[in-house]
Amino acid sequence: DFASALLPYILHPESFPTTTIIRKTEHTVLLRDLFPKALVHLLLLPRDPAFYGLTPFEAFNPKSPSHVAFLDMMRSEARSAAKLAASELTRLVGPHSATCKARNNVLDTLPEPGNSSSLTEVAADHIPPARDFIKDIRIGVHAEPSMNTLHVHIISIDSYSPALKHKKHYNSFNSNFFVPLDDFPLAEDDERMKVEKQKEYAKGDMECWRCGKNYGNRFKELKTHLEDEYHEWRSV
Ligand code: 5GP
Ligand code: ZN
Repeated sequence: DFASALLPYILHPESFPTTTIIRKTEHTVLLRDLFPKALVHLLLLPRDPAFYGLTPFEAFNPKSPSHVAFLDMMRSEARSAAKLAASELTRLVGPHSATCKARNNVLDTLPEPGNSSSLTEVAADHIPPARDFIKDIRIGVHAEPSMNTLHVHIISIDSYSPALKHKKHYNSFNSNFFVPLDDFPLAEDDERMKVEKQKEYAKGDMECWRCGKNYGNRFKELKTHLEDEYHEWRSV
């Protein structure tokens, strides 16, 4: 059924194309989200049957040694996945900001004909290092996931995707409904564990991830604005 659609990726990773399964380690499988809610959207799934059927709160909150070790393992594999996601983001949107500006700079400072310094020296001097997108990658889980196989989202911050189609999609990544993996284990009284609160987060006003403007329920307007923000964000 729908809610267990992620299980085959752990049980039979070899039956999926390498474009979907990015990598498999001893402990996890890293794959592409089929309906990405941002430019880069990956899912990290643990392979251990003792954990993959648990909810995020069941898996990441208990302070027993095996749960703590599990959280550490997932955190470290998610961080490594975030580096991959960041380099993919650089490939997707980086060249049009950093490299284009660099190219223009290089052209501005080309040596006069007859000058002895070579173009490659000039270029190496003026091309800034590629933009590092790691701070634009978020790692976390949904307070109330729709899929019952445990998974951690590794997702870029842009919310720029045709698969982002309604308010719940947006709020599930841009409200307290999204719980960063670094926040675990949560305090016992953390409101994000309360079902009523989760409903509030999902149904609350939509706020722009970049400028904070409140779009209320106006999803179409937000989508137009997200497009503008995307273009600015990538050209910073
Ligand atoms: P949740 O809300 O459960 O945390 O997120 C589940 C994620 O799984 C969603 O982002 C959704 O797009 C993704 N998804 C749903 N079905 C499939 C599928 O069959 N394959 C893959 N790769 N991702 C899926
Ligand atoms: Zn904005």
